[in-house]
Amino acid sequence: MRPLLLALPFALLPLAAVQVAHAHDHEHEHGSLEAHEHGVARLNAALDGQVLELELQSPAMNLVGFEHAPSTDVDRAKVAAARTQLEHPLALFSLPKAAACVVAKQELESPLFGDTPQADDHDDDHDHDAKDADGHEHHHQHSEIHAHYQFTCANPEALRNLDLGAVFKTFPATQKIQVQLISPSGQQGVEATAQAATLKF
Ligand SMILES: [Zn+2]
Repeated sequence: MRPLLLALPFALLPLAAVQVAHAHDHEHEHGSLEAHEHGVARLNAALDGQVLELELQSPAMNLVGFEHAPSTDVDRAKVAAARTQLEHPLALFSLPKAAACVVAKQELESPLFGDTPQADDHDDDHDHDAKDADGHEHHHQHSEIHAHYQFTCANPEALRNLDLGAVFKTFPATQKIQVQLISPSGQQGVEATAQAATLKF
C-alpha cells in the first residue's frame, strides 16, 4: 500500500504539466485574453547587468482606439502610426542618453498587424454576445498589442528611473500601466499613471 501512495504524486505530475501546456497554447492561438481592461496596460521591466528587458502588453484599444482587424484606410493609418511609435522604444520609454542603451531585440505582435493568422475569426463567430451592465450588446473581439524589447546599456548605472510619461502622452487612452519591475534592488509591482509616470529601478 505504502509504495503505491508514494508513487501517485509522481504519476500525476506529467498530466498537470500537459494541462498547463495546453492552457498556454489555447491562450496563444486566440491571440487575446478573455479579460483585459481597456485603459490598463501591463509592463514587465527587468534590469540585469547591462541588459534591460521591457515587455508591454496593451489592449489594442489603448493604442489605436479599436480592436478589430483594420478594414479601412483610416484604421490602417492608425495601426501604422502606433506601430511606428512602438518601433522607437528609446524615445517611447525615455531611456536616458547617458545610459547608452541600444536595441538588441525588438518584437511587435498583434492580430491587428495582420502578420499573425486571425485564429479568432472562425471560432469567435459562435461566441455569445454578452450584455454589459448597461444592457448594451457587447459584441467585442478583444485584441492586444504586445511589444517586447531587449536593450543593451553600456552605462546601466544611469538607469535610475523608468519614465513612462511619453507612453501616456503618445497613447492618451492609456490610463494605467501595471508594472512589474525587476532590478538589482528587488522585485516590485507598481502602478503608473500619467500623473505618476516615473518609477524607480
Ligand atoms: Zn478589448
